[in-house]
Amino acid sequence: MYDINKVREDFPILQREIYGKPLVYLDNGATTQKPRQVVEAMVDEYYNVNANVHRGVHFLSQQATDLHEASRETVRRFIHARSTSEILFTRGTTESINLLAFTFGEAFVRQGDEILVSTMEHHSNIVPWQMMCERKGATLKVIPMTDNGELQMEAYEELLTERTRLVCCTHVSNVLGTINPVADIIRIAHQHGVPVLIDGAQSVPHMPVDVQVLDCDFFAFSGHKIYGPTGVGVLYGKESWLEKLPPYQGGGEMIKTVKFEKTTYNELPYKFEAGTPDYVATHGLAVALDYVTALGMENIFAHEQQLTLYAMQQMQQIEGMRIFGPADHHDAVISFLVGNIHHLDMGTLLDRLGIAVRTGHHCAEPLMHRLGIEGTVRASFALYNTTDEVDALVAGIRRVQKMF
Ligand code: PMP
Repeated sequence: MYDINKVREDFPILQREIYGKPLVYLDNGATTQKPRQVVEAMVDEYYNVNANVHRGVHFLSQQATDLHEASRETVRRFIHARSTSEILFTRGTTESINLLAFTFGEAFVRQGDEILVSTMEHHSNIVPWQMMCERKGATLKVIPMTDNGELQMEAYEELLTERTRLVCCTHVSNVLGTINPVADIIRIAHQHGVPVLIDGAQSVPHMPVDVQVLDCDFFAFSGHKIYGPTGVGVLYGKESWLEKLPPYQGGGEMIKTVKFEKTTYNELPYKFEAGTPDYVATHGLAVALDYVTALGMENIFAHEQQLTLYAMQQMQQIEGMRIFGPADHHDAVISFLVGNIHHLDMGTLLDRLGIAVRTGHHCAEPLMHRLGIEGTVRASFALYNTTDEVDALVAGIRRVQKMF
């Protein structure tokens, strides 16, 4: 385990007061706070290294390129990919999925084909597929879930047909905290010869991930949800798949040679990285990954599991409390409603106590429809949250309840 008080000192924002109360930041599912190490590395790069990558013979350009490519290697190691050719830098999970939806759609999807997504997907793992299906005349099919927030595996298997081209599923639900049985989902899809994209936006920050053990074909995540900067994310893809996909955006860097008659494309991963990348952010992301690696992803998982379990136990004692999602295999996200108190009222009043939670549909409107609700209040934990903060949340909820 790690020393949480020492860790908190790395995150200056946690010292802030909001309305005269100590900040209790429980909106980590939306974005995490940044340790000094990340911010300082980025400032240092801007002050002392900055030059455009890949195209320069001069010293700074080479140094910036080295940092950028070393970051790719750090990401590779972190998710245990086989090769850096399989690590594409994007702006985040959303862009990673859009990249895949466009290129995979162009290469492999025809009229009458089917794409599978689950009931609990974030809009960013629904809408790009809908757009692609519309372009290609394909159909989006949905893996159902139980009232408890677990995917129905038998129904899933029945949905896999000879027309299924891809399965797209979140590793961890950003609303329910459900840790999906992605290894089984992937294994079953592969038995039908169907590749799988895993949305890892909510798993990578909380648990060790090994894309080779999972055997997923594609895996997407965002830097800003794992203590890194905004504007950078990753799409992992097995080299054998990436080789078969056409480029996404055209421009500099993704080409080998350009002639007006015909352009040839660069090798992996550059074929998918048109234009100047956010090389300062990729460096910041690598520093963030080194940061969590030094603490140990197993330790972070254990800490957050303990915190989540404690929070669930404390919250369940509140009268009228409804917690969504399964009790076990539950990640560091708790969505809830109390009695008839509207989620917005709860969130607004908790904010006055310095407690930052998220309210609403959490970019998962179809899931809200399935649950028959408009929205929830969501508390989501990170490596720096404490049981004292959980106590503050529980006391805050009770206080809001008294006001109603
Ligand atoms: N998928 C999931 C499960 C998410 O929680 C989020 C962010 N809330 C996203 C995708 C989208 O991530 P980003 O906005 O960083 O692209």
